[in-house]
Amino acid sequence: MATPNLHVSTHPAVQHKLAILRDERTEPKKFREVVRELSWLLGYEPLEPMTAHELGERIGLVPILRAGLGMVDAMLELLPTAEVWHLGLFRDERTLRPVEYYNKLPDSATVDLCLILDPMLATGGSATAAIEVLKKWGAVSPVRIKLVNLIAAPEGVEAVASAHPDVAIHCAALDRSLNEKGYIQPGLGDAGDRQFGTGRAN
Ligand code: URA
Repeated sequence: MATPNLHVSTHPAVQHKLAILRDERTEPKKFREVVRELSWLLGYEPLEPMTAHELGERIGLVPILRAGLGMVDAMLELLPTAEVWHLGLFRDERTLRPVEYYNKLPDSATVDLCLILDPMLATGGSATAAIEVLKKWGAVSPVRIKLVNLIAAPEGVEAVASAHPDVAIHCAALDRSLNEKGYIQPGLGDAGDRQFGTGRAN
């Protein structure tokens, strides 16, 4: 897969933390801590070419609810002047297509860089929908849009790369594939459920 916009971190600390997330014995409290730490490390990746001068840019963090919430605090530590624009997209489990239910983008698109935060890039449906929302809103060149994911699937990378070749993807791992339910294999399960302790039989 030739995707020049895909940046998979090779940092050993990133790989170590990812292994903790993949471990099904990791409880929600620890899972949330590690999502945060991993987001912090990944936050360097899209910023790597930036200089102190460029940090004066207006940056919008766009967490995809709800799993993206766990990445916000770490990114705000790195980028304290960034704004947070929540976008609610849920995946229709039947069609696997994203449905928008919440949008807190500001009225005007005066922004230089949008970082879309979502731990899992699976089918690419939510990511492409989020990118389309941002572009329709006005985040068009020279505004840069980047995706920050913990784990990506080849299917999602291809979907984003073909629909939006201008968008770079930064992730900690590129996994094997999707299963028939649209979950990443090996992945880590449902990143929302793992963070917030839902989805398990009590
Ligand atoms: N969303 C998740 O949380 N996990 C997956 O594997 C795919 C989508």
